Amino acid sequence: MLDASIRHPRWASVPDAQWSDWRWQQRNRVSTLAELEQFVALDPRERDGVGARGFPFAITPYYASLMDCTRAGSSCPIRRQAIPVADEGLPSLGDMEDPLGEDDHRPVEIISHRYPDRALLYVSHNCPVYCRHCTRARKVGDVASAPGRGALDEAYAYLRRTPAIRDVLISGGDPLSLSDRRLVEICQALRAIPSVEVLRLCTRNPVTLPQRITAELLEPLRELHPIWVSTHFNHPRECTAEAGRALERLADAGFAIGNQTVLLRDLNDDAETITALNRWLVRHRCRPYYLFQCDPVRGSGHLRTPIETGLRIIDELRGRLSGLAIPQFVVDLPGGGGKVALTPDRVISREGRRWRFRNAHGREYEYVDPDDAPAATPRRAASLPLVM
Ligand code: SF4
Repeated sequence: MLDASIRHPRWASVPDAQWSDWRWQQRNRVSTLAELEQFVALDPRERDGVGARGFPFAITPYYASLMDCTRAGSSCPIRRQAIPVADEGLPSLGDMEDPLGEDDHRPVEIISHRYPDRALLYVSHNCPVYCRHCTRARKVGDVASAPGRGALDEAYAYLRRTPAIRDVLISGGDPLSLSDRRLVEICQALRAIPSVEVLRLCTRNPVTLPQRITAELLEPLRELHPIWVSTHFNHPRECTAEAGRALERLADAGFAIGNQTVLLRDLNDDAETITALNRWLVRHRCRPYYLFQCDPVRGSGHLRTPIETGLRIIDELRGRLSGLAIPQFVVDLPGGGGKVALTPDRVISREGRRWRFRNAHGREYEYVDPDDAPAATPRRAASLPLVM
């Protein structure tokens, strides 16, 4: 874990008040090759990566300070999430512009409605850092995709006439890129729709710009609970004291916080890394709830892992970590098929009411169904969820 006071020498002379000001961090993002070269020992793959696909890069000074900047060819996990590489220009089997089919499920311009009771509201094209594995690389960073007031009004009208939607994911881009006033206005407008029960802020700001989690933001939002926060820590190197304080501030203000980690090749694709990350998250009152198979978004082939890797990691976490710190391993099916949770297969056999299991340590155990249990059909038995 890194110390919050770590600040790259490039920004050593910046007064603390500015460094702690999220607007200053946003304004001073590193977003050109010339700026990067001033303080990062780039290798040719990184140099050629800038512009390899039409997905810009931008890095807050805070997040850039977490990078190993000194070694060309470094496999630093922060660097690999933030700096493009030439591989982004290479096609890979099965990749897509819009892997989740979000744009095919848009009843109005800025709503994606794929599940009956949930909808995603797209409120910003901007993020503090443009993650190289982003599922929405097709629109994130593109100013032309920024939603205007008319689009928001159209979205509210859709939600009002679709009362089956109880849960609204406020996303983007990153909704916390908006001003406090604008974001609070959006949340108030959603809260005024009687059928909307839960709001979810989908934000990576606790990771890439924890200075954004201010009392000025949280005070008006806490009036509008229940609001959940879905954040996105991927590696223990992101777990600074500053990030921890951002989570604590959210939890103290009554937000329920969950984390979604995306599995990325040679970055966090081992049980030790996920264990360290999730222990830290739980200590800071953030529940690790999804471990995502990386979506096959165009340009991310070099970051994707085989599905077998996620299953192996979940298998290794069992018996090592409390269930509270073990996420569901999930594949969001390409083309809009929805999420499926995968678990390591622990059923060895079944004879009548007798089930045999293998536990996390390879030992075998038997469980007997009660006498009056309804007989399972073969199909149902095969698809029974395994709770481990
Ligand atoms: S913060 Fe989220 S929306 Fe923004 S670039 Fe990263 S993954 Fe994409």
